[in-house]
Amino acid sequence: MRVNAISNAAVGFAATSTVKNSTIPQSLKPVHNNEEILNKTNEGSKAIMNYFFGMQNVPSFKGYPCSTSAFVVKQIDNVPCACCGKEMMNAKEQNDFVSKASKAKGQELADVFSSNFHKFRRNERAIAREIMNTAPSKPNSSISDILSSTKKTGADLYKQECTIVLDEVDAVAKSIYGEKNKVSNYVSAQKVALNNKKGFNRSAFLKGVQNITKEDANKENTTKLMDKAIELPLNEDGVNKILSKYRNSDSTSIARRLISTAVMTTEHIHPKAKGGPNNTENYMGECAECNNNRGSADLNNYWQTVYPNMPENVQRYNDFITDKIIKGEMGTKYEDYPVDLEKIVASESRNAIKLTVLTPEEIDKARKEKGYSDPKPLPEPVEGEMTIVKKPSGSKKPHRKPSRR
Ligand SMILES: [Zn+2]
Repeated sequence: MRVNAISNAAVGFAATSTVKNSTIPQSLKPVHNNEEILNKTNEGSKAIMNYFFGMQNVPSFKGYPCSTSAFVVKQIDNVPCACCGKEMMNAKEQNDFVSKASKAKGQELADVFSSNFHKFRRNERAIAREIMNTAPSKPNSSISDILSSTKKTGADLYKQECTIVLDEVDAVAKSIYGEKNKVSNYVSAQKVALNNKKGFNRSAFLKGVQNITKEDANKENTTKLMDKAIELPLNEDGVNKILSKYRNSDSTSIARRLISTAVMTTEHIHPKAKGGPNNTENYMGECAECNNNRGSADLNNYWQTVYPNMPENVQRYNDFITDKIIKGEMGTKYEDYPVDLEKIVASESRNAIKLTVLTPEEIDKARKEKGYSDPKPLPEPVEGEMTIVKKPSGSKKPHRKPSRR
């Protein structure tokens, strides 16, 4: 579609703070796995402190006030996550999956999992794979029968999934660079680490692959490799927690939990906890996994260890949505969305993520060239769905932009 002009440059913090991590109120600390990232780098907490010391520019928001549920992107199918790049599920698809998977047994169960397998997120996939692979040999077994009878531990499933993804990374590397190549050598060494007590570190592995391939000028190669590598489970502990909590649950609960992280959520690009308003300009579609992991962490740093290809993925998300705007599927109020997205993502990532976007005029031109008729307004969200946004201090009040009708 367009030339992808992404800067991968890691921009450091303009200022650092000596305030200790422990002084940050618990409510502002990011949740789940991100805690681990914060402890490792301390960058997230610096970002939060920078914000409180007024070192971060709070952008003024255009777009228009809108509840997270009324964000039109949520009505679109197969949107790629703006963070991890994987296709997301909408609420209807999730319900369909749960109802089919919870009733299925044996081969039919394997088929339901297999046709949705690309949607499972990282830790959940380790468990979903076990169900999918075991089901054909157990014709009368449901999801809950399989999980309650497996002798495997969370650690076993984590290791099994890592091995499979590492083999897939190896296969991609061989298809690009030939039988003997540095990435494959590196993968072999990492598989040894995975099998001894010293263990395997996902973030370090992703960094390692990036370092080896940084001389490769062909961006398509590195994107292909990284898309595969980020499918590694996030952590053994996460797989363990899901398995021990759901091992003895009913099939419906297990199916719902395993697919829950693939569901599309509305991400506040400027975090809500830092005053980010409910406004279309501040929104992008992210899977529940990515949204939960980020918490309120600074966009400049949090993704680099977990999803190093996020800059490419925000661009993919933008391109996907822009195409929908051109085709008229987003109604009449999103013509400015790509330009707004570019601005706020640059601001939140301190220019580490630079998008190439179309202006409303370019969108109009593309629409005419491709023969699409002018879009029609979508129905207004029902009364009560709109959220009154409290004006964050230091930022301009969001205003409703004139609709293009
Ligand atoms: Zn994601």
